[in-house]
Amino acid sequence: MNILENVQYLREEMDTVAVQSGRTGADITLVAASKTQSAETVRAAIAAGVDACGENRVQELSEKVAAGAYEGAPIHFIGHLQKNKVRKVVGVASLIQSVDSIELLQTIDRVAAEREIVQDVLLQVNIGDDVNKFGIHANELDALLDQIAPLSGIQVRGLMTILPILSKSSEIRGLYAQMHQVYVDIRRKSCHNIRMDFLSMGMSGDFQEAILEGANMIRVGSTIFGNRM
Ligand SMILES: *Cc1c(COP(=O)(O)O)cnc(C)c1O
Repeated sequence: MNILENVQYLREEMDTVAVQSGRTGADITLVAASKTQSAETVRAAIAAGVDACGENRVQELSEKVAAGAYEGAPIHFIGHLQKNKVRKVVGVASLIQSVDSIELLQTIDRVAAEREIVQDVLLQVNIGDDVNKFGIHANELDALLDQIAPLSGIQVRGLMTILPILSKSSEIRGLYAQMHQVYVDIRRKSCHNIRMDFLSMGMSGDFQEAILEGANMIRVGSTIFGNRM
């Protein structure tokens, strides 16, 4: 598995697809989804030029931080975050992508305020209304946004989604297009503490569809690292 070649391939593909939607590859942030990968492998991905590393599990994140895995790249948290583990992630991750409830937002806000920092987060949206996935349903977002204004320890920077498993490219694009619309609608509103800078969607199997529909951040694991054991 040649990580450098894989990242180069991805960058070329990102650029080609971005141009088709009126942008360039430089407009898209590449997050390496590095779950189960060793610290050494993560360092190779950073050397190959990924923009950030995304971890799913708090324990694994803490171990790899201790091993110096992420030097030179920002850390994103992309997995389901339990409230009792928030302390281990706030201030360690530059972006928590997977915030899916007001209770979690409030907990992050409290810890960030204690530490006198502002934690950047994305709201995870369950755009496919998939019963097996975490995330806020699109029709619950407006009510949530109203509750975010007083939380001075957080800054919402955008939205993230993980699609249900779909086979058809047209279905995938349809859901990503819906996500983009939600993102644009919120951006128009200009709410306090909420900026829409990042739309994080697309993985190894569907990052092209995601970019075509407006993603500016993709999270890629197996195309960089090979299939997980
Ligand atoms: C593992 C993971 C990815 C990347 O998945 P691949 O299909 O290996 O590219 C993206 N996002 C999240 C939240 C993940 O857990």
